[in-house]
Amino acid sequence: MAIQTINPFNNKVIKNFEEMTPDAVDAAVGKAETQFHSWKKTSYEERSALLHKVADLMRNKKDQLAHTITLEMGKLLAQSAGEIDLSADIIDYYATNGERFLANKVLDTEFGEAYIKSSPIGVLLGVEPWNFPFYQVARFAAPNIMVGNVILVKHASNVPQCAQAIEELFTEAGAPAGIYTNLFLSGKNASLLAADDRIKGVSLTGSELAGASLAEAAGKSLKKSVLELGGSDAFIVLEDADIDQAVEWAVVGRMNNTGQCCVASKRMIVLDAVADEFLKKFTAKLTGLKVGDPMDASTELGPLSSEAAAVQLADQVQRSVDAGARVVIGGKRIDRPGAFIQATIITDLKPGMAAYHEELFGPVASFYRVKDEQEAITLANDSPYGLGGSVFTSDKKRGENIADQLDTGMVFINHPTWTQPDLPFGGTKRSGYGRELSSLGIEEFVNKKLIRVS
Ligand code: NAP
Repeated sequence: MAIQTINPFNNKVIKNFEEMTPDAVDAAVGKAETQFHSWKKTSYEERSALLHKVADLMRNKKDQLAHTITLEMGKLLAQSAGEIDLSADIIDYYATNGERFLANKVLDTEFGEAYIKSSPIGVLLGVEPWNFPFYQVARFAAPNIMVGNVILVKHASNVPQCAQAIEELFTEAGAPAGIYTNLFLSGKNASLLAADDRIKGVSLTGSELAGASLAEAAGKSLKKSVLELGGSDAFIVLEDADIDQAVEWAVVGRMNNTGQCCVASKRMIVLDAVADEFLKKFTAKLTGLKVGDPMDASTELGPLSSEAAAVQLADQVQRSVDAGARVVIGGKRIDRPGAFIQATIITDLKPGMAAYHEELFGPVASFYRVKDEQEAITLANDSPYGLGGSVFTSDKKRGENIADQLDTGMVFINHPTWTQPDLPFGGTKRSGYGRELSSLGIEEFVNKKLIRVS
């Protein structure tokens, strides 16, 4: 994949970037390793001050950075601005709480005094996706820089200006060279780089294929990986739910970021008693979305991130329809330039169909009608993914009971799966392993050293 900015609103190439030469990559890794030996000796106060500065700069440049996100991957401009705020909040969160999270943990032992001391492990490689180009980086970079690790980031090839902008924020905030390094690399070369002895851990957010490739390379050289991969979250609506509220959240859960969220509400699983009402109201909402330029504040449905993404999603819908699925609304590309696809609802889905098993990364909702709660749980769990999920009910205890039976890393009651700095984020099954955000996210690349004193 060429490293370039293509505006998905009109598919025009805006700017091309060169992949780094092997020598340049080698020098960047060397600089990071050298810098690690100084950075690990800095105090938490110094690291925290740097991160707060980065967060401040991010907020000060919000309009410009949001514009870059929308230009490169087509997110609605207001959502891009929201992503900048969220990213700055994550960075501040670790700057404020990191020292507390990493404090020595005294052990209750039978003999002697013992405690766990957290220390950094070295240079890390993060491979990040385009769908939230600032947020994904923030949740990897901030905790690890607070730990005292230094990081290399290989960002997605379609958001090079975002990638550069993040590195510039660190430089402008005064980060010594080598703390945060952007690498313009292909995915394949990122996996090869994982074998470099100077790199001590890898983290990837993206597809299963990319995750397996990077984790294989890391595993062969015996280093840890964290993988945040795809998802196909169930959005379960029980017969006692507030249907209007559930429909409002279904629209947000499915359509936020034009449906390109790993934790989007991709499968609507609705109990028979309220299925007709839910589908009628949900259909009306999606039909009314205003299609247009994501830079325009009145637009409600923008393009996907790339032409290739739109082609792939339309193909997944078509393959499902060919196998017997029924389109309730949409299902086709929109007849205009750019990576547009109609807001879509498909139903009558069965095992064996593409939309039953595959992740639909765009504004396409799968609608399932089920007879009861048990069938909803069984269907929700019949997925290769295990990222998030949600349950809508007026009985919170019933919701929690269902949450306990869902085979996922996260479940939200009466809300689509969501993210905030202090909630752990991650999945099970083919959605990956490890956690980002919260106190758990800062512990992934830490040497938890036992110190025993007699
Ligand atoms: P992708 O193709 O896997 O791209 C993600 C990153 O991996 C990019 O930087 C990409 O680089 C790189 N990459 C590609 N092939 C690679 C390889 N062989 N070795 C190492 N790196 C490689 O992902 P996508 O399909 O664009 O992104 C959407 C996916 O990410 C969806 O499945 C979504 O659910 C998932 N996602 C998961 C989470 C989560 O937290 N669980 C969050 C957001 C997104 P290039 O761009 O150069 O190919």
